[in-house]
Amino acid sequence: MPELPEVETIRAQLAPRLEGRVLTRVEILDPRLTRPYDLFEVAEELEGDRVVAVERRGKYLLLRLESGLGLLVHLRMTGSFGFTSASHERAVLELDDGSRLAYRDVRRFGTWLVLEEAELEPYLATKNGPEPLGRGFTTGWLGAQLSRRRAPLKAVLLDQRVVAGLGNIYADEALWRARLSPLRPANDLAAEEIARLMRAVRGSLRTGIERQGSTLRDYATPNGASGSMQEEFRVYGRDGLPCPRCGATIAKARVGGRGTWFCPRCQPFDA
Ligand SMILES: [Zn+2]
Repeated sequence: MPELPEVETIRAQLAPRLEGRVLTRVEILDPRLTRPYDLFEVAEELEGDRVVAVERRGKYLLLRLESGLGLLVHLRMTGSFGFTSASHERAVLELDDGSRLAYRDVRRFGTWLVLEEAELEPYLATKNGPEPLGRGFTTGWLGAQLSRRRAPLKAVLLDQRVVAGLGNIYADEALWRARLSPLRPANDLAAEEIARLMRAVRGSLRTGIERQGSTLRDYATPNGASGSMQEEFRVYGRDGLPCPRCGATIAKARVGGRGTWFCPRCQPFDA
């Protein structure tokens, strides 16, 4: 699933090609994409409007339109955009410069939602906590969130209302950087550990953005390139391999229903 660095990479590549362009034709091919709203009605709302900005909030892409409407896209498992034709196209945007942007989605969990300008921020605020690379993400705020939860740290970090945009990969990488066990109860962390965790979350996301995301299975950027973050993984997907910091064997567990990789020596947990 694309996480903050992947969605940010997609945003950065779409923005220069979409901003200022009119959506001359909008074709939505899969009713699941817009449900419960009718796909023809959604396409009609978008057609003829001009894209003024391409933004990101958590894992959401937001196309702001001249009319004030916003198209909120969530890629979920396998959604992606591309300027070349491909299989599994679920929607197509034709632009006034003659280009054609296709939305592809093999597993069809992605969503497109059109909202009025005034609805956008309240809707996004119910789904997302502060942006982890922004000013609102502070140790005070993170500490308050963690202190209210006894669930394993990893599970709490995956809650988008705690860290917007963080997902399975970057949560595991951040916990390794912070030398914190994913199994620790969230409310068990000391102030110094919370500060370490905050820096680690930011560091792993920044590295992901610098590497243009991780290329796993279905992810590709709109320009057809692929990210290289997977070459930087320290623990994610590396069970049985040595920890790059201490040499102990990386372990895999299930936490909150998700595969979780960690070093049992430098991320200790005494239950
Ligand atoms: Zn280690």
